[in-house]
Order: sequence, then C-alpha cells, then structure tokens
Amino acid sequence: MQLSLGYRHSITKKGAKKMSKNNQNKKDSSFTILKEVYGYFLSSAWKTYKMYFFVRFGKLLVSVFQPFVAIIYIPKIVEELMGSGNAQQLIRYAAAIVIIEFVLAILNGTFVNIVERYAQKFENYYKMVLSRRIVALDFALTEDKKALDQLELAKNGMSWYSGGLNGLMEELFTLISSAITLFGVTYIIVTKAPVIIIITAFLFIASFFIQAKLNMIEQEQYAKLSKVNRIFGYLGWGLVDFRFGKDIRLYQAKDMMIEKWSHFTDEMNEQWEEMANKQLPLQLLNMVVMLFRDFGTYFYIGFLAIMGRITIATTTQMITAAGTFSNTLLGMVSSYQNMVKKANYANEFVKFLDYPMAMQRGKRNVHPGPHVFEFRDLSFSYPGSDVKVLSHVNLTLQEGEHLSVVGLNGAGKTTMVKLLCRLYDPTDGEILMDGINIKEYDYEQYMSVFAPVFQDFKLFAFRVTENLLRTDDITDEQRKVAEQTLKQVGIYDKLQTFPEGMDTVLFKYFDKGGIEPSGGEQQKLAIARALIKDADVVILDEPTAALDPMAEYEIYRQFEEMVKGKTAIYISHRLSSCQFCDRIAVFSEENVKEYGTHEELVSKENGIYAEMFAAQAQYYS
Ligand code: ADP
Repeated sequence: MQLSLGYRHSITKKGAKKMSKNNQNKKDSSFTILKEVYGYFLSSAWKTYKMYFFVRFGKLLVSVFQPFVAIIYIPKIVEELMGSGNAQQLIRYAAAIVIIEFVLAILNGTFVNIVERYAQKFENYYKMVLSRRIVALDFALTEDKKALDQLELAKNGMSWYSGGLNGLMEELFTLISSAITLFGVTYIIVTKAPVIIIITAFLFIASFFIQAKLNMIEQEQYAKLSKVNRIFGYLGWGLVDFRFGKDIRLYQAKDMMIEKWSHFTDEMNEQWEEMANKQLPLQLLNMVVMLFRDFGTYFYIGFLAIMGRITIATTTQMITAAGTFSNTLLGMVSSYQNMVKKANYANEFVKFLDYPMAMQRGKRNVHPGPHVFEFRDLSFSYPGSDVKVLSHVNLTLQEGEHLSVVGLNGAGKTTMVKLLCRLYDPTDGEILMDGINIKEYDYEQYMSVFAPVFQDFKLFAFRVTENLLRTDDITDEQRKVAEQTLKQVGIYDKLQTFPEGMDTVLFKYFDKGGIEPSGGEQQKLAIARALIKDADVVILDEPTAALDPMAEYEIYRQFEEMVKGKTAIYISHRLSSCQFCDRIAVFSEENVKEYGTHEELVSKENGIYAEMFAAQAQYYS
C-alpha cells in the first residue's frame, strides 16, 4: 500500500508561509474549511482506495431511488382502490413495491457492510499518516504545548469527533443523494400543490439557523476539552504503565493520581453539563418550528382535498411527497451542517499535517567527514523560556578531536550537544560545520553525521538487532558487525543466554518472551547502537552512569578503539575519563569557562576543573 501524504508533505518555503497563515487564521470560513478538508481527503483517499468511491456511488443510487417507490406506487394503489379495484392489478403494484424495496434493501445492506470495512482501513491509514507527521516534526515542537494541543485535536478530530474519512464521505454522499431526491420530489409537488414548497422552505430556514448555532456550541466545547483530554491521556497511561509502578507505590502517588483523575473528571462533566444547558432552549425551539411546518403542510393538503382541487390519490401522494420533501430538505441541512462540523474537526488533522516548521532546512549536501565544528557567539534559551542556558559560547571542535565536556548539573552540557545535533536552533549566534552554518545543510544528511547516546536515550520494544540496525532484514555482514560491537560493549554473552540471542526482543510490550534489560544493560545496548551507526561524530552523554565499575573500566579501556578516527564528545562527571580525551571544556555559568588539556587545567590555580578533580580524587587516594 502506498502511503501518500498528498500535497501536504512537500513543504516548500512558499507552502510553509501559506501553511503558517492557515494555522494562525483560526476563523476560516466554512466554505474554505470544506474546500481544504474535502480537497485533502478526497484526493488522498482516491489515490489509495478507489474502489471505496464506486461502492459509495452504488449506495448513493439506492438512496436516490428508495423514496420514490412509495411516492409512485401508493397513489396507484389508492387510484385502483377508488376506481375499478382490479385485484390482479393491486397485487401487481403491491408485489412491485415489495420486490423493489427488497432488492434495494439487499443492495443497501451490502454496500453498508463494504463501506464499514473501509472505515476501519481508513482509520489505520490516517493514523499512519499522523505518525509519519509526528516523527518528522521539529524536535522542539515535541515539547511545545501548542503543538501538543494541536496533536490532540488532530487525533480526536480524525477519529470519533468526525467519524474519520468515512464520516466525512457519509455526509457528502448523503447530501448529493438528497439533492437528487429533492429535485425529483419538488418536480412532483410543484405540478400539483406548490404552496407546500413555500411553507416547508420558510420554516426550514429557521431550523437551519438553530441547528447551526447548536453545532457551534458543541464545537466550542470540544476545543475546550482538548487540554483535559491530554491530561486524561497522561493519567490513564501513568496509572496502567508498569514502568510507573514503582514510583507510584513507593512515593504513595496513587491517591494523588486518583485525586487528579476525579478532579479532571469533574471538570469534564461540568463542561458537558454546560454545553447541554446551552443547547436545551435551542433544541426545544427547533421542535416547535417542526410542529408548525407539519401543521401548515397538512392543513394546506387537507384544504385542497376538501375543496376538491386534488383527488384522493393525489392527496395521498402529496402527503407522502411533502413528508419526503421536508425530511430530505432537513436531511440536507443536517448533512451540510454535519459536513461543516466534521470538516472542522478533520481540519484539525489537516492543520497538524501543515504545522509550520520553524527550522530552516537547507539543501546543501554533507560531505564525508571528518568535520570541523565551531560554535560562534552562540546563545540559547529553550523555546517558551527566557532563561539563558548558554550565553555567547565560542568553541571549536577539530577534525577527529576527542573533547571531554564537564561541569556541574544544569551547566548546559547536554544542551550544547543537542544544539550541535540540531535538535534545536540557537537563539543567537551560529554553529558552523566546515565553515558553513549548519542550517544550510540538508537536515537528514546532517543528522546522519552524529551518533549520540543521550542520558534519556530510548530503546525500541523490538529485537536487539532491529534496535542496532533499524531493519529486520539483516545481512550476514551486518550481523557480524553487530556481534562484534555487542562484544565490545560487554553485552554479547548476556544476550546469548536467551534463546534468541541477538534477536531477542526488548521489553514486554508486545512479546511475552521480551526481556527487561537493567539500566546498565540498556546503556551498553545504546552505546552499541551509536557505534554501529558508524557516524563521524560520536557523542556520549554520561555513558557510564548506569554501569558497574568493571563495565565502566571496559568502556574506558576500549574508548580509543571504539571512536578511532572519529570525532567524539564525552560528557561525564567522572573526571578520570577526561584523561583519554584530547581537550576538556569546562561549562559553568552559561559558558565555557575553561578549555585545555587535562595537564593544563589540573594545574591551573583556583581553576574549576582543578577543584573538581581534587574533590573527586580525594576519595580514591
Ligand atoms: P547539563 O547537561 O549540564 O546537566 P542541561 O543542558 O541538561 O544541563 O540543562 C541546562 C539547563 O537547561 C537546566 O537548567 C535545565 O533545567 C534546562 N533545560 C534542559 N532541558 C530543557 C527543556 N527541554 N526545556 C526547558 N529547559 C530545559
């Protein structure tokens, strides 16, 4: 199956501008939203599931024919009864009604069944489209409240709020079939009792506005619920996720979680209540309008019949036709309003696909390393915060250099490598690779230069080999490299104790046979994954924090071998690790306060590094 994101995913500069406008401009007209949403969904669904539209068309034909069976045949029966009363003819009409209704019902049932099967496929398909968008999002946006709210709206908008693609199409096709039916019924009525059209149309306009107001209230309410829904998601996940189990129990967090749960349940109930209160008077008013419509229509038909202006057969036909006319008209209004409503929800999905990317993504090719990196007068605050984490940093990382980065907690060491990897862009200043601003390089290619192991790295709940190589189609050559690297980081033997060895699945999310590696084992696997990536720059952020002293010693011993020929950044609080790096950068007070070799820094009077080294060394002496 081809996963097409349609035009949404080729984000050009011009496109991005338009998209960002689309995102800011919350009050787009209904027509614009309908055009955008139906434009996107019709084209993406047509490309992937053409057959669906043929089935929908079949269902449409059935819906168009169905109301006319009674309108055409009932007057004939009445006429026959009032006239010659030919039994055979009567049976023929009755049989025609039964047979046609039966065939239409069978066809309709079959089409409904097929359409429902497609509904499931569409749900999965658009979930995949959404996932692809999420993983392609600027990293900074994954922490952005507005983006997360938009994601929540997108998920809900595309699922039960709108009924997904099938929900959108249901309304569109109902509207089309109703329009055709309406055309036919209007023709029949106009020739015999045209005032019916005026009465129904007049009251219908009143009902239209009432319904529009009802929908608006509902939609405003859903928008308010998005934050509460996100919190529910977090609480729901936290309460059932076994990884939270220890902390919930040992820190007696159960009551707090349940308290929060009930607090937000109350908040949600209140919001629903508020909506229902606002809607009640309008719903009642709508019912009164309907009563007037029925009263007016039947009064008029009765009047025509009593005055002898229409026959009994025509009277029955007009009663059926008037009912069909007003139901179809109301059906059309409700389909149109549902279309607008569902399109508004689904538009949240489209908006998320269009979520503006803040990061400039250049086109320049990245040439094979090694590379020189330079931080030039770089300052940085995290998005949405005014706190300077780094301020006017200047630092150069030479080709193949091994740089040790030290400093107290919160000094900005990790932030510095996140900026280097372009997970964020600097607030001021720039980072250059081989003399060129890193923003000018192709983003994906630039990312391929780095193999980091962050402190909060995550392994996937797949096979070890898939974690290492991101594919389940592994060549013998790759297998050999994986084996060697796992031996190097000291986890190969442990994996061999499991029946599937290197193909063992991590964690138990999907696989009962999955293993739960310890923190240290996970760290070893993460280091192996970084080494196998064979990138130009290896970044290890506290890589041995979870390792036992023997394992740490092994990593230190083999560090040279592991990063031979590569540039490496090694962040650690264990200052002994600095001795196998070429240079040390000491981060403090938003900047690099000291820079040099171990020998240079350790002998510096009142130096930060010298002090830290002395403090740590006293425990070992
Ligand atoms: P270090 O690696 O030196 O311990 P970090 O670079 O992780 O320090 O963090 C530097 C500062 O930036 C800290 O004060 C931390 O609270 C803040 N910080 C880190 N990550 C984020 C984030 N995603 N959003 C906002 N502030 C952050």
